[in-house]
Amino acid sequence: MRNGIVYSIVVPLYNEELVTCESYRRLKKIMDSTRESYEIIFVNDGSKDKTREIAEMICRNDENVKLINFSRNFGHQAAITAGMDLASGDAVVVIDADLQDPPEVILKMIEKWKEGYEVVYGKRTKREGETFFKKFTSKMYYRLLKSMTSVDIPVDTGDFRLIDRKVCDALVSLSEKNRYVRGLVSWVGYKQTSVEFERQERFAGDTKYPLKKMIKLAFDGITALSYKPLVFAGYFGGSTFLVGMISMFAGIVKSLIRKTEILNLGLIMSTTIMMFGIMLGSIGIMGQYIGRIFDESKGRPIYIIDSTINYGRLDKKYKAC
Ligand code: UDP
Ligand code: MG
Repeated sequence: MRNGIVYSIVVPLYNEELVTCESYRRLKKIMDSTRESYEIIFVNDGSKDKTREIAEMICRNDENVKLINFSRNFGHQAAITAGMDLASGDAVVVIDADLQDPPEVILKMIEKWKEGYEVVYGKRTKREGETFFKKFTSKMYYRLLKSMTSVDIPVDTGDFRLIDRKVCDALVSLSEKNRYVRGLVSWVGYKQTSVEFERQERFAGDTKYPLKKMIKLAFDGITALSYKPLVFAGYFGGSTFLVGMISMFAGIVKSLIRKTEILNLGLIMSTTIMMFGIMLGSIGIMGQYIGRIFDESKGRPIYIIDSTINYGRLDKKYKAC
């Protein structure tokens, strides 16, 4: 037990002024009921609304609540990474602020952890208040991801999960920049199990995950765990090359037999467009990987902390900067 804390609850916040107080109230109620020590770590991911002020006020009134303020918006995955980096608990729980993941499920996760499981992830049986598009694409994506990697990725899960200190330390030691935390948790292994829950509607406000961020996260997941898309690009190249060769020979043979020309503009145009599509698509896939190699080579940190509250010595360090 580090600093005498048993549970660390990591809550990323981005423009969550409408939910922060309620989230704190529900989490505090649940965590107090465990009668064990805990810390709630709010990670303010560069919010532009009143989230920071609200979180600071909560911290002033409750020293079990800690706050990490980023210098700008670094994204959800960076926020939960920071929370894990600065967590002291024997078990670390990551939960969204908007109460879509019911805090009450944490108690079930704790039970499983006490039985000896080192990762307990929340498995969504139902998803309330989310669009058909989001539910459908997410269902397809998790299945696609599972089929692409040898790592055992549980389907229909998010980042809502409890991890043991051992797992947290293993994750902290991984330095990759474009993080897909739920995939990394599967990758590190350990004894894993799930608890089922019904995902609720957002308590208030709108999603902070627009399509652009969702697509980026989806690519982070695939590129972090699999290089099959690059292999597929090779397969496409190989098979179109074969098709091209066969049709070329067939054309030559046909024109020799019939003694005619085989100039069919429509066919040439459509095959050229198709080839371009395949080539540019393959370059795009490579770009996804090369971009991430580029990010790694720059060696920049995953996030930058502007200030912290209720972290003792660390608070002074960031104030001094
Ligand atoms: N979030 C964040 N940074 C971002 C986007 C989201 O810290 O750039 C937080 C957000 O405040 C919430 C969690 O990540 O606590 C999940 O976001 P959201 O609920 O909007 O995603 P959804 O449930 O709609 O997928
Ligand atoms: Mg949400």
